[in-house]
Amino acid sequence: MATAVEVPEYEVQDDVQLDPERTALIVVDMQNDFVSEGGSLVGPDAKDTIPRIQSLLELARGSGMRVVYSQDTHDEGDPEWQIWPEHARRGTWGWQIVDGLAPRGDELIVQKVRYDAFYGTSLDHQLRLWGIDTLVICGTVANICVHYTAASAALRWYRVVIPRDAVSALEPFDLESSLRQTAFLFAGTITTTEAIHT
Ligand code: ZN
Repeated sequence: MATAVEVPEYEVQDDVQLDPERTALIVVDMQNDFVSEGGSLVGPDAKDTIPRIQSLLELARGSGMRVVYSQDTHDEGDPEWQIWPEHARRGTWGWQIVDGLAPRGDELIVQKVRYDAFYGTSLDHQLRLWGIDTLVICGTVANICVHYTAASAALRWYRVVIPRDAVSALEPFDLESSLRQTAFLFAGTITTTEAIHT
């Protein structure tokens, strides 16, 4: 069944000023299986977000902002492979973060077993130790791992900022519904990569 729906309007902010001391950039699941040709669950627009995420990384690294990567990580028998094709098997090429966005040695990589990067990980603990209260979240998939991570962050009262051109989804509907939910339900900030300043 295909039904045309209108996306309720949400604000896309054109100037977002952030304090680098209290902000972390979270790069979600930019792994070969989701982004690179030959991956098992590639989003059609995921590759296009690489240059925007590179810009965000430059901004973050240049201003001393913390950078965190999430890395979807599954082992043999993981029940997620009953929902999705096999993906992000630990140690494989598909599991690795794409070359263009390689983490620096001093940046935290959170290996996660579910959509939410807070679930079963030390992410919240680490962010609180750093005194972080704002998260810029980018990566893929917008309505899955980005969304559940953003939701989980918002429930913990982090301010959530999502540059809409640095996230990607399998379908435009999924992208818009996710951004609308973040703006509407969590009072998150939707913006663009170039509108973010420190
Ligand atoms: Zn997964």
